[in-house]
Amino acid sequence: MFSSVLSHRFETELGLTVTHCGSQEALDAALLEATDGFTMAVVGLNLPGSPDGHALDQILAHDIPAIVFTGSFNVDVRNRIASRNIVDYVVKDNEFALDNLIAAVRRAISNRKTRVLVVDDVVSARSALVELLEAQQFKVCQAGTGIEALEVLEKYGDIELVLTDHHMPDMDGYELTRRIRNRYSNERIRVIGISSSGDRFLSASFLKAGASDFVYRPFVPEELQCRISHNIETLTQIKQLRAAAASDYLTGLYNRRYFYDQGPRIVTECLRNLEPASVAVLDIDHFKRLNDTYGHEIGDRVLKAVATRLQSEFIGSDNLLSRVGGEEFAMLFAGLDSAAATALCDRVREDIQALKIVAEDEDISVTVSIGVAEIGGYETFENYLNAADQYLYMAKHHGRNQVYSDARVVTAAAE
Ligand code: GH3
Ligand code: MG
Ligand code: MG
Repeated sequence: MFSSVLSHRFETELGLTVTHCGSQEALDAALLEATDGFTMAVVGLNLPGSPDGHALDQILAHDIPAIVFTGSFNVDVRNRIASRNIVDYVVKDNEFALDNLIAAVRRAISNRKTRVLVVDDVVSARSALVELLEAQQFKVCQAGTGIEALEVLEKYGDIELVLTDHHMPDMDGYELTRRIRNRYSNERIRVIGISSSGDRFLSASFLKAGASDFVYRPFVPEELQCRISHNIETLTQIKQLRAAAASDYLTGLYNRRYFYDQGPRIVTECLRNLEPASVAVLDIDHFKRLNDTYGHEIGDRVLKAVATRLQSEFIGSDNLLSRVGGEEFAMLFAGLDSAAATALCDRVREDIQALKIVAEDEDISVTVSIGVAEIGGYETFENYLNAADQYLYMAKHHGRNQVYSDARVVTAAAE
């Protein structure tokens, strides 16, 4: 019962392919048959036909990272498991055991994408930490001094956690923490201090200098493991909150807030590089009528289809696309002047016109109007969007399904 619920949850919640072995025999067969091997094992200590944790030994001998679960837990069992290089263990002593097991596997998979830096001048101490982290599946970098640590941080842009010793020859861990904090916020990199110092005030100094956590040696590995997990989890939650705050719930595009946050930054970058930039506002024509005719649900479907189309137009480019309001989208084109942006928007307009959206028995198509304004560097970001809005208004006024811009108005006047 436990295994089948577990297998089902691994498959549905984590998208994994699961092989269930109910006995030592089944395990032998699975290990023989598996051509690509297994990327992880979740193993009970009391598998039928496998006395004394033989199954675990066998899995470790095959270099398969293992998460152990056990119903009977005591000091003996703990020491027996902990002496082997396993990812984690989960005790099956409460109703949350299943959830904890799923969480442990999820954590191990996500750790494979997370880079950690270990800083310690004593090789044996450093190696022990590296081993503990690698068992948890982290990507690990090492440094023997503070200066080297700063260089490694510079070299790898994706380090999310630093474990640092305190007593080191060139720079102590406290100073290293301060320097890391000078450059990287607590929301980017977590720092955990580790020291065998007898100074009871050291942990407080570290935390005040910006460390996220501190552990005195000798430590219990499980404690350090949990502290590491909590810190990584906090970073993950921050990333998820950021992504949610920047995205539009209906279409998944960036939302208005993100567009107005990031737009000015991109514009400044263009101006500094002496590159042109343009903004555009796109509005679906007669959308209210579409809603009134087909209902809100179909209206939403049209919004999503238009968003997906726009997204595929701009995939892989530096252009910033966002849904800024009901049926209004804004675009920022880095590197494009008004003429180039107008030409691009004309293609976008034609593409959307050709789009067929399935609604009950008929296909719906929509048109859009677009206003484009070039950024000259004298005005605020909002003012350029207002200018694009004015051109959008002209496009609507002149019959919709058109692109209007300063470039187009000048060409029209010349003609
Ligand atoms: P125009 O061609 O001048 O732009 O006319 P329009 O009808 O598109 O413009 P208007 O601004 O009058 O109407 C916009 C409509 O968009 C009104 C509103 O009900 C609808 N709308 C806004 N947000 C949503 C949404 O999230 N889902 C759906 N289905 N409709 C929305
Ligand atoms: Mg409209
Ligand atoms: Mg509108």
